[in-house]
Amino acid sequence: MLIPLVPATGAGRYAPSPTGDLHLGNLRTALLAWLFARSSDRAFLMRMEDLDDRVDPASAQRQLADLAALGIDWDGPVLYQSDRQETYWAELGKLRDAGLTFECFCTRREIHAAASAPHAPPGSYPGTCRDLTEQQRAERRATGRPPAVRLRTSATHCTVTDALHGRYTGVVDDFVLQRGDGTFAYNFVCVVDDLATGVDQVVRGDDLLSSAPRQAYLASLLGHEPPRYAHVPLVLGPSGKRLAKRDGAVTMREIDARPARIVGLLARSLGLSNKEESTPQDLLGGFDATLLPHEPWVFVPGPTP
Ligand code: GLU
Repeated sequence: MLIPLVPATGAGRYAPSPTGDLHLGNLRTALLAWLFARSSDRAFLMRMEDLDDRVDPASAQRQLADLAALGIDWDGPVLYQSDRQETYWAELGKLRDAGLTFECFCTRREIHAAASAPHAPPGSYPGTCRDLTEQQRAERRATGRPPAVRLRTSATHCTVTDALHGRYTGVVDDFVLQRGDGTFAYNFVCVVDDLATGVDQVVRGDDLLSSAPRQAYLASLLGHEPPRYAHVPLVLGPSGKRLAKRDGAVTMREIDARPARIVGLLARSLGLSNKEESTPQDLLGGFDATLLPHEPWVFVPGPTP
């Protein structure tokens, strides 16, 4: 399996989930991730987060073709998470051997009911299965329900530094590393892959800001500095909800405009240019992350932009 060489200068990355064509919101995040990396002389890596059961393998190729058409280039081969099961098993094994994991037999409903207990930080796992005795575990195993594997944490919060949000403190709980069906969880594989590929700059949508403290905590448990983060604003549809298929023509193919016009539209939405047409390269010279908007952009699909 090909793993990109760990770049000496650090790396940024874009890590889409291939569950359909990229829409303008995804493309805007990809453009920003590229600009952050290239303007700081980092490598730029591409990773397909294709462990999810909603993955459509054909869409990975379409996403890559769309990114390339816009002029977003990347270094080395694309990393497919579905090729990395052995690595994830090995990393999980290391955490288990260090006493940092436990099996969890809870259903979602049980977690939800227990998590509303007054002492639990909102949105956190309440610790139900953390200290089961061997006998209790054996009883639960006997029900036939395969357990999830959770991280045994010794913190409740972690603070990260973000280029747009400053210092951000969020909950760290005993989060899931591997689901009961055997699928490795996003928070786990994201950290394992970022560390394995030398990623020290993570740029992604700000809907994932609350994942950063958990991921930074796991990175530090694995003996690494957490990356620099930039959680960038989302693109919303006319309803005020996150841009989605239901909003009409939102992908490059649906909008059917020249790539330079799409980049131009995205660049104007970010205050990076006032031209109709641009290339990512054009935007590089003046790129200043401190001037980026912090509010979402509302995109109203209409005639070709
Ligand atoms: N795969 C995630 C997404 O498409 C991004 C995860 C990340 O950048 O950490 O929203």
